[in-house]
Amino acid sequence: MLADKDRIFTNIYGFKDTSLKGAMARGCWDNTKAIISKGRDWIIDEMKASGLRGRGGAGFPTGMKWSFMPKSNDGRPHYLVVNADESEPGTCKDRDILRHDPHTLIEGCVFAACAMGANTAFIYIRGEYIREREALQRAIDECYEAKLLGKNTRHGHDCDIIIHHGAGAYICGEETALLESLEGKKGQPRLKPPFPANMGLYGCPTTVNNVESIAVAPAILRRGAKWFSSIGRPNNVGTKLFMISGHVNTPCTVEESLGITFRELVEKHAGGIRGGWDNLLAVVPGGASCPVVKAEDMMDAIMDFDGMKEVKSSFGTGGAIVMDKSTDIIKAIWRISAFFKHESCGQCTPCREGTGWMMRLLGRMVEGRAQKREIDLLFDVSTQVEGHTICALGDAAAWPVQGLIRNFRSEIEERIDAYTRNAVQSRHIALEAAQ
Ligand code: SF4
Repeated sequence: MLADKDRIFTNIYGFKDTSLKGAMARGCWDNTKAIISKGRDWIIDEMKASGLRGRGGAGFPTGMKWSFMPKSNDGRPHYLVVNADESEPGTCKDRDILRHDPHTLIEGCVFAACAMGANTAFIYIRGEYIREREALQRAIDECYEAKLLGKNTRHGHDCDIIIHHGAGAYICGEETALLESLEGKKGQPRLKPPFPANMGLYGCPTTVNNVESIAVAPAILRRGAKWFSSIGRPNNVGTKLFMISGHVNTPCTVEESLGITFRELVEKHAGGIRGGWDNLLAVVPGGASCPVVKAEDMMDAIMDFDGMKEVKSSFGTGGAIVMDKSTDIIKAIWRISAFFKHESCGQCTPCREGTGWMMRLLGRMVEGRAQKREIDLLFDVSTQVEGHTICALGDAAAWPVQGLIRNFRSEIEERIDAYTRNAVQSRHIALEAAQ
């Protein structure tokens, strides 16, 4: 269990003063100038050495991502873009940083911008996060007043932060769709290459990072890469905001060390499974796009990137959706399918057509009104969507379906059998009534 002294987010529940004064009392903006003076390369090397992997879902090493920004200046400005379009069902950590601990993010933006040679950072906030935007804007205004943002800052790196409020489309959380939206266009993903580090916002070098990835940077740079990498296990280091929702006794967001087991996480922070561990049916471990995992595989699974790979799922954002035995698992996955169908931007055929096709067939399976051979057909179609699209939404739509079939095929078959039995009985009754 994470020791209190190792916590990065000390006001994640908003119990303490969220103002600049309160944040400074908790250590924010401490020694910023000295860290900035060590230079861009030092910051990138330290971030690389820390082993931090992106907290937005993909888990790409953050320091390496920062190092992709061009070192030389060809006259184009460089941009940092923070992805605060937190829309993955089951995920609600970034909003707590935005509204309760915003100075961790703002200071992180200054360090990241310095490392990338950028003087402007955009924070793209999810459309529904109105109070979060207001809280963040308040914190940014305080920083401008205190000369921590803007020109001629106290720490020596000029940095402007501009908040952009999205309109509530899930696909704008995809980094290139986010850039399109930021430019005032329809939020549709771009083909890559070119990658944003070469040609991103307004055709300029850009790095897009998740809120949590940026917000942990000041603690890493202040306390050292060694400290951060000593938490967790190799390749899966540091602390992480976990979100535990669904059928637990006390759903919550909590900072813990990577590598904690699912059982320990739920017991210590979420009050256990509703009705006890024997009542656990399945878990979607990292947000809605991650394949569902059966109870027996999940109970003692390790909650980190490699641990979730071992159970054929994905760590994603760290948002575990817990389902007990009262759940209709086929219907739950159908609901996730309906979400992705609704959020598909429609640019590529496999995603535009495939998401609706999978949702409709799953809808019939919920009732049992399907053929057993269609289970394999559904799996086959999901593999034709996966990996054949412009962005990862196609994969995100395919994985829950694959997880369901891998783990709960017998439930689908039983549902089909029950429907067939009922249909035959009804026919007999109708025939007898007619005679
Ligand atoms: Fe749009 Fe789906 Fe293609 Fe992504 S995969 S670009 S969401 S149609």
